[in-house]
Amino acid sequence: MTAPVKYRYILSRGLHGRCPRCDFGALFNPGFCNLTLRPVCPHCGLNLAKNDSADGPAVLLIFLLGILLVPCALLFDALASPPLWVHGVLWGVLALIITLGCLKPVKSMILAIQYHTNPASWEGEDVRKATAMDRGTDQDVKKER
Ligand SMILES: [Zn+2]
Repeated sequence: MTAPVKYRYILSRGLHGRCPRCDFGALFNPGFCNLTLRPVCPHCGLNLAKNDSADGPAVLLIFLLGILLVPCALLFDALASPPLWVHGVLWGVLALIITLGCLKPVKSMILAIQYHTNPASWEGEDVRKATAMDRGTDQDVKKER
């Protein structure tokens, strides 16, 4: 049984780009366009390279931008009827800016969800036992003994 998802926890770590375990260490190397994940948390030493989110954040952003920008482009075309090159420049630049601005927070949120839902895969069996004992649901721990 998994713990209920703490949305405030996930949103906080996602928006700040912080480590899902300690909430102090930065997940990414410095730089606005540098999307490289650090191999370990500089504060607590959590192995971040072990559970990379791969293409998940980019795919999620592609879906969200498609849902948001296509209706806006259709509405803009119906209201203003601009030439085609205006659509290409406007929506291309807008999609690029939104993607670069949102990729780090979305990637951080996905890592926080992964860590929150299955911390044992990040840190080993000791953490799963400690977490189960903290919650008072030490049934999983008793089964293993
Ligand atoms: Zn950390």
